[in-house]
Amino acid sequence: MGMQIEALQADEGDALLITLEGDVPRTILIDGGLARTGEAIAQIFRDRGVVKLDLLIVTHIDRDHIEGILKLLDELPASMLTVDQIWFNGYRHLRATPPNPGELGEHGALMGNRLESSIYARSIPWNKAFSHGPAARNGKTFPVMWFSDTSRITLIGPTTLQLEALAPSWEKECEKAGIVPGQPPAISDSTLVQHSSSGEFDFDALASAEFKNDHALANLSSIVVLIEHGAAVALFGGDACARSLTSALEELAAERGAPLHVDLFKVPHHGSASNLSMELLTSLQCTNYVISSSGARFGHPDDETLARIVAHHRALGGPLPTIWFNYLSARTRPWCDQDRKSSLGYEVVVPEGTGSVTARLG
Ligand SMILES: [Zn+2]
Repeated sequence: MGMQIEALQADEGDALLITLEGDVPRTILIDGGLARTGEAIAQIFRDRGVVKLDLLIVTHIDRDHIEGILKLLDELPASMLTVDQIWFNGYRHLRATPPNPGELGEHGALMGNRLESSIYARSIPWNKAFSHGPAARNGKTFPVMWFSDTSRITLIGPTTLQLEALAPSWEKECEKAGIVPGQPPAISDSTLVQHSSSGEFDFDALASAEFKNDHALANLSSIVVLIEHGAAVALFGGDACARSLTSALEELAAERGAPLHVDLFKVPHHGSASNLSMELLTSLQCTNYVISSSGARFGHPDDETLARIVAHHRALGGPLPTIWFNYLSARTRPWCDQDRKSSLGYEVVVPEGTGSVTARLG
């Protein structure tokens, strides 16, 4: 009855493969990284005989989350992979009044939103849990989808307001996200820069560095979910912004009348310093933090993020936090140093070789 979470290697992106164990096991995929991660996921599915996804979540339109899903659906046609349902906010979900189908088709082509076409071509039930409307929170209530009496997914974000804010700039955001028609900008390993820490390591300065909230519209539109399966609880933060996520988690704790306990938190936006604040850390009780990034393109995770996690737990006392990296990189290697770990008080898990990291809960 446990939950298994694999943080697949997805370059600068996210690809989280989740298995809910039990009499009726369920497979959930959250995001697909870049195209080559999509290829790798297709191979994993072929090797393991996975022919059905119970739920596919594409958190938002950024290329490092969506492109691998497009590739996966290309690689594995409907005859090889059934998708029971998808949660994804397309252009049609951004406005209070949905466009008519003709208009939608035109926009789909205009925006090059191949995922929408793929969803239609495969007849995948789209945002079924939200009556085919936006996968978003409208007002105070948190939408919940139950797999069984002991297995549920709660949608934490975005809000319908955050989605609507994206509408006027959808085309521009799509362009930025790299999903306009034509060839996406080529990224090869040789074009990537290895970012590494420069200068002295000053833990206190990093931990207390001023927090600057991420305001990127596409990130604000990220789908954030809390998955609870038996005793196992995991929170998947997409690329969400810290301030809105903090208030949503505080509201959820208030609704439930108890502090929010989470076994594992997929930290938003690859561990960027602009997406993890002390307030966000304080809004939940958690000891396992997953960070998904090779560090190669944007230098994620930021040292400030890791220092905040460690400082938060040093102040709390209690069990040491464990930080799960899906790459051993120039960014993460210094944080694996035994002296640093024991003097500051935290643990790390990194992949063996070039594989993913897998956490088992419950
Ligand atoms: Zn991202």
